[in-house]
Amino acid sequence: MPTQLTLLGTKGGPAIRPGGPMPTSSLLEIAGRRIVVDCGLGVTRSLVATGMSLKELDTICITHLHSDHVLELGALIHTAWTTGTTRPIHVYGPVGIDEYWQGFMQAMAFDCGIRVIDEGRIPIGDLVHIHTYSEGLVFATPELRVSALRVVHPPVDECYGLRFDADVSVTFSADTRYFPPLIDFARGSDILVHEAMLIAGLDALVAKTGGGDKLRNHLLASHTTAEQVASVARDAEVGHLVLHHLVPADDPNFSAHDWEQAVRPIWQGVLSVGHDGLCITMP
Ligand SMILES: [Zn+2]
Ligand SMILES: [Zn+2]
Repeated sequence: MPTQLTLLGTKGGPAIRPGGPMPTSSLLEIAGRRIVVDCGLGVTRSLVATGMSLKELDTICITHLHSDHVLELGALIHTAWTTGTTRPIHVYGPVGIDEYWQGFMQAMAFDCGIRVIDEGRIPIGDLVHIHTYSEGLVFATPELRVSALRVVHPPVDECYGLRFDADVSVTFSADTRYFPPLIDFARGSDILVHEAMLIAGLDALVAKTGGGDKLRNHLLASHTTAEQVASVARDAEVGHLVLHHLVPADDPNFSAHDWEQAVRPIWQGVLSVGHDGLCITMP
């Protein structure tokens, strides 16, 4: 299995619009494992579109409990279950992830129960292992180490950047405002997948979505501008910067060219502006 990163959904925020990208999720194939990072709406269909059988799903990491990162977690696991998987599925998430899963099973109790009685399936709860992590080591195997850094994404306290170290290193910023400790955390990564916001696009986004100053203030306090992302990549000396969780993501007035223009004066290294389906294979 080649080491590969596929961005399944690249939009920041939970709303979707005709022709636009989907909320945040990624597939990281590393150290012989397939790891799903975040489960925004659309993750199930996008995973299958990569050619992956849902019977192979066994590791999911959630950075925080905003819906654009977790809304489809339950539906993904449920669909893997009805696809016939018998493989244990390990879910790593911050405090609250267990309540999410218990709540999902409660909401789907009728279906989850009837399929055991009627179709001979194993109880869905028997497949799923929920692991609550905080800053530090998330899990490790002889081939792979996954670690977490608490980032700053108010008002969410429990939000974590994730670093995957194997024969290559890949760091995800998660949702965060500019946060200098992320530079050390990401240092030397082959790939840095960083959320990004284009300041020039905020007015139109706020007008379209509603929420006025509250939404604008949230975006400015909780996310990182493209220019700031560029400086993190430069200072962390990463190999490849991937812009992800784009805000705005579906405004026809802004294209990849605008993101590049914001980043290029500060970061001259390898750059990818994320789009749904972007696949990066590492040597
Ligand atoms: Zn988000
Ligand atoms: Zn968020």
